[in-house]
Amino acid sequence: MKHKNIAIFVPHAGCPHKCSFCNQHAITAQDALPRAADVQRICAKASAEISNCRNTEVAFFGGSFTAIPRDYMLELLEAVQPFLGENGFCGIRISTRPDCISRGVLDILKMYGVTAIELGAQSMCDHVLAANDRGHTAQDVADACTLIREYGFELGLQVMVGLYKSTMEDERRTLQEIRKIHPDTVRIYPTAVLQNTPLADKLKSGEYQLFSFDEVTAFCAEMLSQFAADGIAVIKCGLHASEFVAQDCVGGFYHPAFRELCEGVLFRRRMTELLGECGREQAVFAVHPSCISKAVGHKRANILHFQSVGTAVKIIGDENLDEYQIELRE
Ligand code: SF4
Repeated sequence: MKHKNIAIFVPHAGCPHKCSFCNQHAITAQDALPRAADVQRICAKASAEISNCRNTEVAFFGGSFTAIPRDYMLELLEAVQPFLGENGFCGIRISTRPDCISRGVLDILKMYGVTAIELGAQSMCDHVLAANDRGHTAQDVADACTLIREYGFELGLQVMVGLYKSTMEDERRTLQEIRKIHPDTVRIYPTAVLQNTPLADKLKSGEYQLFSFDEVTAFCAEMLSQFAADGIAVIKCGLHASEFVAQDCVGGFYHPAFRELCEGVLFRRRMTELLGECGREQAVFAVHPSCISKAVGHKRANILHFQSVGTAVKIIGDENLDEYQIELRE
C-alpha cells in the first residue's frame, strides 16, 4: 500500500542557523506558523477524505522541528494525538537538523507517537558543511543517526548535490558515507539557488561555480542506482515543483521533472551497456511496467538518442522485473 504524508509546514521556526541556500518562504510558500487549531483542522479534513489512514503519517516539515521552542513543539504534537491510533493515522514524521537530536528530545518524540525522523545531512564533507553555514559536522550526522536507530525510529536522510565548494569527489564521498549509514529513506535535492540567499550572492559574484546540469543529473542517476541496489528508498529526487521555487530560482539545478530526467539517464546508461559495441538496427528492452516511461526518457529522449545512432528501440513491460532492472530481449 502506498505511503502517504499529511504535510504541515513549520517554516524556519526554531532554526538556529541560516544556511547558505535556505529561503524557506520560497520552499514552503508560507510564512505563518501553524498553531494547534490549524493542525487539528488539517488532520480532521484529511481523515474525513482518506478511506484508510493506516498508511498515512502526519508530517511536520520545513524547519527544524526539534529546535522550535519546547512549548510550541508539544502544542503541535498534542494536537495530532486524537488522530493517531487504531482508526487514525499510523504516526508522525518530522524533519530536523542533526545537531538538534538528543536523548531528551527522542524520549519526547517517542512518547508522542513519532515514527520517522528525517535529518538534513546535506553533505558528509565538513568543509562543504562549513562553507554553506550549516553549523554542524558530518560526525554530528553519524552520531544523530546512531541515536535515532537506537530508539527504533525510521531514519531518513536528506542530501544536497552541488553545494558551494563541493567537488565531484566530495559528492561521491557523501554518497558512500550515506550508504554506510544505510538510512531507511533518502531525499536527494540538487541545489537550487534561490534569491535572497547567501548562495545567490556568491553565484552573482562568480565565487560559486556550478557543476553542469548534465553532470548533476548523471551523478543523481548514479545515486538512484546505488541506493536502489542497497534497498534504500529514495522518496524524493529534486525539489518539490512549486511556482514559488520556479519564481525564486536564480540558478542551480531546479527542474520540475528532475527525477524523471535522472531515471532516463540511468536507463539510457544501462541500455548502452547492454547493446555493447555491436551496431544493431533494432532492440527490444524489457523493464517493470511502472518504468516504461522512465526507460523511454523525458520527452522520449532515450528513443530519440538511440534512433540518432541507428538503433530503433522498443520498450516492453515485464512484471517480473524489479525497479530499474532492464533486459535486452531481441
Ligand atoms: S537548518 Fe533548515 S530551516 Fe534552518 S536555515 Fe538551514 S535549511 Fe533553513
